[in-house]
Amino acid sequence: MADLSLRKVKKVYDNTVVAVQSFDLEIADKEFIVLVGPSGCGKSTTLRMVAGLEEITEGELYIGGRKVNTMPPKDRDIAMVFQDYALYPHMTIYDNIAYGLRLRKFPKRVIDQKVREAAEILDITELLKRKPKALSGGQRQRVAIGRAIVREPQVFLMDEPLSNLDAKLRNQMRSEILKLRQKVNTTFIYVTHDQTEAMTLGDRIVIMKEGFVQQVGTPQEVFHHPSNLFVAGFIGTPQMNVFDARLIREGARYFVELGGLRVEMSAEKTKRLLAEDVSSQPVKLGIRPEHLMLTDREDAVPASVDVSEMMGSAVHIHLTACGQDVVVVVPLGEEEESGSMPIGQPVRFTFRGSAAHVFDPETGRNLEYPPAPAPEPEPEPVPEPVPQPVPASAAPAAPEEIAQPEEPPVPVPVPERPAEPVIPPMTVVIPQEVFDEPAPPLGDPFAEDEEEEP
Ligand code: ADP
Repeated sequence: MADLSLRKVKKVYDNTVVAVQSFDLEIADKEFIVLVGPSGCGKSTTLRMVAGLEEITEGELYIGGRKVNTMPPKDRDIAMVFQDYALYPHMTIYDNIAYGLRLRKFPKRVIDQKVREAAEILDITELLKRKPKALSGGQRQRVAIGRAIVREPQVFLMDEPLSNLDAKLRNQMRSEILKLRQKVNTTFIYVTHDQTEAMTLGDRIVIMKEGFVQQVGTPQEVFHHPSNLFVAGFIGTPQMNVFDARLIREGARYFVELGGLRVEMSAEKTKRLLAEDVSSQPVKLGIRPEHLMLTDREDAVPASVDVSEMMGSAVHIHLTACGQDVVVVVPLGEEEESGSMPIGQPVRFTFRGSAAHVFDPETGRNLEYPPAPAPEPEPEPVPEPVPQPVPASAAPAAPEEIAQPEEPPVPVPVPERPAEPVIPPMTVVIPQEVFDEPAPPLGDPFAEDEEEEP
């Protein structure tokens, strides 16, 4: 258990690649923080700086009140679970979990107690005598988590721990991690590119883009009050619809105009716009698909149906309106109903003023809120969009890591879809070499100096 403080933390790789900058965050003791953003935005780098696996170029990092910038990983009282949950293939699950404790020369009795407690928490007691090969992907990831739990770390770091699992297992493990969090009372920092994971797990979410923090807030805050167009597009699924529209100020009232429809902004939004003294202007108007309503009203925005997607509890209707694609989510009742609409059918939609988000078309900033104290993210040119192998350099890098291909940086603050993990449906992707003899895959940077394997 510990609080953390990251102050103006910056990471520059090889004197050229600025991976993270101006990273400021106070993390409370026992808080569950999720770092989320598209591939290459600097999430893992941030986590690895906290772990001590990457040097901090500038800024300060405190764990439990102690400045730890130069402290080696093993002294930081941290445990980390990686995406590729490498286990020793020739050891039983029991021995895999016990391994770190044996290195630390814990008494046998204590090790046994800790391993059994962890197994109980993770519901893998039945599996302790098995070898990793005889486990499913989800079970293996539980063992990897078990290995971290027995350390009773001050801070629990998780780097995309569920990415290697298929969709169904991922959902299951997500709720397991929620339960784990209740049982293991410690501070968590969790990295993911999946906004659903971020929304369901985090007490607070840190949304990153191109090395900069875009917004920090509770899931509700970032969903209902996105600080900019990027956050608005990244959080929420289906993605928020964004229109070119006009904001009109008439005295102390605000309206948005879209395709002939005029909607008054809600009282709360009006108050915030007045506080910022926002004047009439063209805006990017964001409305979530679940907040658009199909209607017969004559003044509503005309559209035509492209396709209907039946989702069970709702139907996602894709429309063309205002010369662009628009998605409307229509909830379905308990009765069986198709909810689908014939292609080409003309429809109309409207929305409430409480659901309208207005953004500056140039900067993407939410006009309801003051500009951030620091200038809006002006990403420094990052010259290398190509995948780079992680150098096996002086840093005590974890050998089980696999260099991930990076996506090129996105130049403008337009919403983009969270990258989907590249996983064939219903397949558990396990790097097989990890489980094949010989060569134990795991060098544990958080362990005391390694000795011979037991
Ligand atoms: P994320 O975890 O959000 O996918 P990373 O933190 O891995 O992003 O990477 C952030 C940026 O730093 C990317 O541009 C990536 O290419 C770069 N980067 C990551 N690791 C290294 C490294 N070891 N050497 C050079 N550049 C790196």
